[in-house]
Amino acid sequence: MIEVAVMAPIPRPLTYRVPPRFEVRAGQRVFVPLGRRRAQGIVLEPVAKMAAGIEAKDILELIDPEPLLPPELLTLGLWIAEYYVAPPGEVFRGMLPLLQETRRAERLEITALGRTRLEYLVERLCDAAMARAEAPGSAGILPATTPASGHPSSRRRGEPSSLLGSGGGKGVVEPESAADSPPEGKAATPAAPDAGPQDALDRERQFLEALGKRPLAIPIAQKHYGADVVERAQQEGWAELHNVEEKRARRTVLAVRLAGPLPEHLPKLSRGARRILDALAAPTVKPEGAGGELQDHRPLLKSAKGSIANLRQLEMAGLVSIEDRSAFGPPAAPDAEGDDGFGAPVDGSRFELTAAQAAAFSDLSTRLDARKFSTTLLYGVTGSGKTELYLRLIARALEQNRTALMLVPEISLTPAVRALFISRFGSDVAVLHSGLARGERHQAWWRAARGEARVVLGTRSAVFAPLVNLGLVVVDEEHDASYKQDETPRYHGRDVAVVRARVAGALCVLGSATPSLESYWNAERGKYALAKLAGRVAGRPLATVEVVDMRAEFRQTFSKVPVSRRLQAEIEAQLARGEQTIILLNRRGYSWYLLCRSCGQSPECVNCSISLTYHRAEHRLVCHYCGYSVPVPSRCPSCQSEYIYYVGEGTEKIEDKFRELFPTARVERLDRDVARRPGHFEKVLGRFRRGEIDILIGTQLVSKGHDFPGVTLVGVVSADQGLRLPDFRAAERTFQLLTQVAGRSGRGTVPGRVLVQTFYPEHYAIRLAAGQNYEGFFAKEMRFRRMMRYPPVAALARIVAQHAKLERAVEAARHIERYFKRALPGDGDQESGAGEEADTGSAAAGDHGPSRLGPFRFAVLGPGPAPLARIQGRHRIQFLIKAASRTELNRLLSGLALHLEAERVPPPSVLIDMDPVSVM
Ligand code: ADP
Ligand code: ZN
Ligand code: ZN
Repeated sequence: MIEVAVMAPIPRPLTYRVPPRFEVRAGQRVFVPLGRRRAQGIVLEPVAKMAAGIEAKDILELIDPEPLLPPELLTLGLWIAEYYVAPPGEVFRGMLPLLQETRRAERLEITALGRTRLEYLVERLCDAAMARAEAPGSAGILPATTPASGHPSSRRRGEPSSLLGSGGGKGVVEPESAADSPPEGKAATPAAPDAGPQDALDRERQFLEALGKRPLAIPIAQKHYGADVVERAQQEGWAELHNVEEKRARRTVLAVRLAGPLPEHLPKLSRGARRILDALAAPTVKPEGAGGELQDHRPLLKSAKGSIANLRQLEMAGLVSIEDRSAFGPPAAPDAEGDDGFGAPVDGSRFELTAAQAAAFSDLSTRLDARKFSTTLLYGVTGSGKTELYLRLIARALEQNRTALMLVPEISLTPAVRALFISRFGSDVAVLHSGLARGERHQAWWRAARGEARVVLGTRSAVFAPLVNLGLVVVDEEHDASYKQDETPRYHGRDVAVVRARVAGALCVLGSATPSLESYWNAERGKYALAKLAGRVAGRPLATVEVVDMRAEFRQTFSKVPVSRRLQAEIEAQLARGEQTIILLNRRGYSWYLLCRSCGQSPECVNCSISLTYHRAEHRLVCHYCGYSVPVPSRCPSCQSEYIYYVGEGTEKIEDKFRELFPTARVERLDRDVARRPGHFEKVLGRFRRGEIDILIGTQLVSKGHDFPGVTLVGVVSADQGLRLPDFRAAERTFQLLTQVAGRSGRGTVPGRVLVQTFYPEHYAIRLAAGQNYEGFFAKEMRFRRMMRYPPVAALARIVAQHAKLERAVEAARHIERYFKRALPGDGDQESGAGEEADTGSAAAGDHGPSRLGPFRFAVLGPGPAPLARIQGRHRIQFLIKAASRTELNRLLSGLALHLEAERVPPPSVLIDMDPVSVM
């Protein structure tokens, strides 16, 4: 018997029996019965025996000939399931980009009644054969008994036979379906127009026999057994439609070429075959070797309007040669990298490393050479040359015949970074991110799995790339919030990367100019090593930052223009000098919201408890959480007043304002609204890099990772956006955003400047970001976290009860509350006591020994409405659980998951978020 992680929201693996005809190994995918359905699962470990009183079912089918997940990834997946309290099957589903090899489809399955019917029909056939044997004169003709007299179906006798003959139904036959091939063994017997009842019974038996072996698609069943038979079986309850998951047929790939020079006299060929021959011999196809270029058969057949049968005819005639290249997985092909206008990246391999870089490199490469797991936090200010270190470490891992993985936030995966990797490592690189088409992802995954690509560059989920012999894992911009997945499993890519390195015995490097508090704390107390790059390369200074107090600005000008005189003057000077500027405003849209001056209402989203943002380009009000939108009303929807007022400014409005203020400047905007146009994002970045844009306005999309040497001024229109959010990470996020965007200035030879406009110049996040004083911010923020018992000094989890109906959300919350009351008697909210540090940090740091927090073990905050009380139509009731020990918190949450399962609380109505990045 084996454990299987079934791809369904079940909090633990299930046990199945392996029939002797299968040989299964851990990491293989299988189909298993789950209730009345079929589900996909990943084989885990064999188990000795079942718990008493439960009977294991047989697994149904193997999906892969080989295990798909190597042991390291199995271990990693199980760690994620346990640590993040997520269903193991859902974790593995997320780890595999290969689900297009199976798919959900409507299929007919045989029922118990159907099996009885089949038995009856078979018996009847035997009887008939016996009768025939006894009466040799009537060979081949079955006795014309009426169908199933006395059987419940007899009421259908005498129904018009017009049902017959409508076989070969018009349903779309899905070409890649496994069910497309004729059901094995049975000769297809389409219903002939004059088919008699006898024939119908035969087809019925054949149909039920086939169905007993595997589910069938309706159109296929109709084609082979007749629509009458299929319809009757459904009406009688012998067959039922189910949504099943099934294996896709392997795609046939044939490589075709001319076998040699064409003979003078061609044999007689069908017209299709002739067209194929013409296409192959056409001069557009470069002749290469004797028989010309190999061609993939699909485009060839498409252009020549030919069929596989035509091809086979040509093969028989010796005119073409065909190679079967069908394989498990896609055909090997190099990554096509189009020209993105970035030109050849700087070849850094010839740089002389700076002293700081050299010191860090020597330390890191010693660790790499040790072939043992360890983690180093590479804290290097913006522009200190961290990327060059990553590249050299990767090269070194390759020299040692090991592989390397580098994670970047979604947005840092710009063409520049990709081009840099490809220029250094060529076809050794596979790029994995969610923006790829499924086929491309599939391909990159397989190249890594087969060892054809030894370097994987990708975003969060690339942490699951099937690299073997992994030597190095790099997480760039490790503080970035996009590493946290905001759906089940809610894992943090950075922490999973550390665990992946641990499992593989690899070196893990976390890099950032603004490390997360978690990582820096782990470095401070020795869980991670620390490597520092304190200055920029080539002795370039960090940009100088100046804070503009917008309160003073308003007192002096009474102007509503969101751009201070100081910033305007600076930009004028930039334009005069021909230098480039980045303008940050972390808010997209035109105005934040509409406000009615008569009744004070603002239009809200129908699905979310949030005001709608005005987008002028579409002239609509848009919800930034769910995408809901409505046309802009001319009157207040609540009171019909005409006095509607637009409050606040977003990037769209700033863009307008800038075009007005600087009519000769070339201004572009970069935020999620424009990035949605395919290829636009890359195009704008490329033009900016080439100096074809003077002012680039954007949201945090412009703050991250980019290396634009021409930028010498960064203006922050408002630094205050994120500070007001009721989230304990608000200050940390603001500090990171400001420091990162400041880091875009002065990366070339000319020193850079930064202007930060704010209404809170004395806020420590703004003050310390202006001073680019990370250590100062860390010390200050840690005092706050310690006092409030927030991460990293305590472990934190968030539980949200959510449902479209408020009562149902409340009901789920009650279950949760009851569980906590029982599991933590008298421990509800002991938040007092001097704050000594708990042994926490981030997931990957592990947990050692009991807490040193004295009386504090757990604190449960809630239930209460989440700050965003409704999102996407669901009401949300939130709990926050702080704990001194990560292990104990994990035990508490696993208990909660089992409790909820036992109480039959539907899985989607409770969200468990370990180490939440946002508590909104
Ligand atoms: P970071 O990632 O730390 O912000 P980058 O790795 O982007 O910094 O490096 C900033 C710039 O410095 C890049 O253009 C890079 O090519 C260049 N650079 C890196 N190392 C050196 C070096 N040793 N000497 C000269 N230039 C370097
Ligand atoms: Zn109103
Ligand atoms: Zn909404």
